[in-house]
Formats: sequence, structure tokens, C-alpha cells
Amino acid sequence: MPDADAGAVPAGCLFCRIAAGDLPARVVLRTPRVLAFEDVNPQAPLHVLVVPVRHVESAAAISEGDGELLEEMLIAAREVAEASGKGGGGYRLVMNVGDDAGNTVPHLHLHVVGGRRLGWPPG
Ligand SMILES: [Zn+2]
Repeated sequence: MPDADAGAVPAGCLFCRIAAGDLPARVVLRTPRVLAFEDVNPQAPLHVLVVPVRHVESAAAISEGDGELLEEMLIAAREVAEASGKGGGGYRLVMNVGDDAGNTVPHLHLHVVGGRRLGWPPG
């Protein structure tokens, strides 16, 4: 089981601390392995982050054996979008990797963004 070997958690990882309940967040969904909470700097009426409870550096750190975790994250994203009432017209799922993509927290997170017309390509 991937969760059995969580490995070293970087001290002070923001999302690990939120997942542990050490920092407040507006949590909208929680399962044993996945947490979803509102982004503190929302870019749209719906902007929620879905994160694994265990520390995973980024999408680039995903490996064989993480399939169930990713499945749970995608199902959580759908449930969050549906429950918000803001995803009916469509929504976007984004995982940023690295500085150039604007990833500011080195803990895997899936942005669930919607509730308005979204442009493409992203700016
Ligand atoms: Zn973390």
C-alpha cells in the first residue's frame, strides 16, 4: 500500500500541516487519503485544491502504485465540483509542476476551477 511508506515529510510543508489539522483551511471534503479545501487566493467562483493526505512532492513524483490515490483525487474533484453547484457548466483540473508553471507549494495538489468561462490557453 502506498500509504504505508509515507517517507520523510519536509518540515513545515503547508499542505501537510493543513492535512494534519495544524493549520486552518476551509475543508469541503475529507477521506482517509484525500483532502479538499478552498484555495486562499481563488481565481474563479469555484477554486478548490484536492491534495493527498500523505506528502507527495508533485505530479512529477507520481509512480507506479499511486493509481488508486490519483483515482481518489479525481473522484474527489468531481464530487467537490458537483457539491459546489458551480461546476455545472464545466470546470478545469490543473496540476502545476515546477516554478515555471506557478507551483508555489511543493505538495501535490489538483486545482478544481470553475464557475465562470475559463480562457485557453492559460495566461
Ligand atoms: Zn506535504
